[in-house]
Amino acid sequence: MKLAKRVASLTPSSTLAITAKAKELKAAGHDVIGLGAGEPDFNTPEHIMEAAVRAMHEGHTKYTPSGGLPALKAEIIKKFQNDQKLDYKPSEIIVCVGAKHALYTLFQVILDEGDEVIIPTPYWVSYPEQVKLAGGVPVYVETAEENSFKMTPEQLKAAITERTKAVIINSPSNPTGMIYTKEELQALGDVCLEHNILIVSDEIYEKLVYGGHEHISIAQLSPELKKQTIIINGVSKSHSMTGWRIGYAAGDEEIIRAMTDLASHSTSNPTSIAQYAAIAAYSGSQEPVERMRQAFEERLNIIYERLIQIPGFSCVKPQGAFYLFPNAKKAALMAGYDSVDAFVEALLEEAKVALVPGSGFGAPDNVRLSYATSLEQLQKAIDRIQAFMESKT
Ligand code: PLP
Repeated sequence: MKLAKRVASLTPSSTLAITAKAKELKAAGHDVIGLGAGEPDFNTPEHIMEAAVRAMHEGHTKYTPSGGLPALKAEIIKKFQNDQKLDYKPSEIIVCVGAKHALYTLFQVILDEGDEVIIPTPYWVSYPEQVKLAGGVPVYVETAEENSFKMTPEQLKAAITERTKAVIINSPSNPTGMIYTKEELQALGDVCLEHNILIVSDEIYEKLVYGGHEHISIAQLSPELKKQTIIINGVSKSHSMTGWRIGYAAGDEEIIRAMTDLASHSTSNPTSIAQYAAIAAYSGSQEPVERMRQAFEERLNIIYERLIQIPGFSCVKPQGAFYLFPNAKKAALMAGYDSVDAFVEALLEEAKVALVPGSGFGAPDNVRLSYATSLEQLQKAIDRIQAFMESKT
């Protein structure tokens, strides 16, 4: 059957592709270390799971309002007040099936055919595809490694055209781990206000910040910027709840209403019991969130120091999320490969270490290593990469 034009250029997620290949090798009996994961390796905290079980027994197994349970919206509102001193009304919040679905729904309701969305590179793999699926056009702004992969206001300004509708800011960033400072956000926000561009602020890694760095939402900086921003967040990364699929969007009432209407005809609602689990995630102790953050920080500090000792790798030290995004072009050339993609493939086949090539993130000279795996596995993976380089050079 001839498929719709809409999906003709759709590419599968590169992060999932490498994970599939690693699994294949594992199934064939190979001892593969996967550093491709985009999810915390911890189980969901006990009290959150208990809340879901309780919800089932209490009969909360039916449809909920499309935009999410009022009780969950109330917890999300409290979270914004506590963490960002931002006030939202329930009508300015929609709960979706993960942050990914919140972004998907958002692009569906704001983009007309040919509308442009500015996406700084390196980017999270799903942004361009989601924009294209909504009929939009991704406009890439190539950030410089020397500038810690951050978009400058000048770059943003230069990318704006008559058709620009929105810009995506992902801080802390997947894949680079970079965090924009208050001053940097203010400067970008000024450009957005001047040109009336919607800011899509993906804050899913908000809780995973290290080295004393601070997450700031661009919406916090002024009432004008709050009005101009849709915040995307969720419990997937903060509470180790990737499989539960609860994310949300907060911002302009008209946009949220349209998203809710669209959800009412697509998902109906996010899973009822997962919403009860998310209520427990926000209303209960935040100690597990901090414990996981500390574990990530310890791993980051150890493996970052080891990785940059390997000849051919250079890396800006991440400030958040759980990825390292080193430049591996020199390492690839030293090992006899003309592309980082080929180098990554050889690493998987010969050294049995699965990394994600940067090409999927719009940065073909880099690779992404996730440290959402045990320190022991991480140490072993670095040993293998080191041995691989020694054997090739
Ligand atoms: N935004 C970014 C930058 C991500 O890395 C991810 C997950 O990998 C998401 C959004 C989606 O999160 P969720 O699992 O809540 O859909």
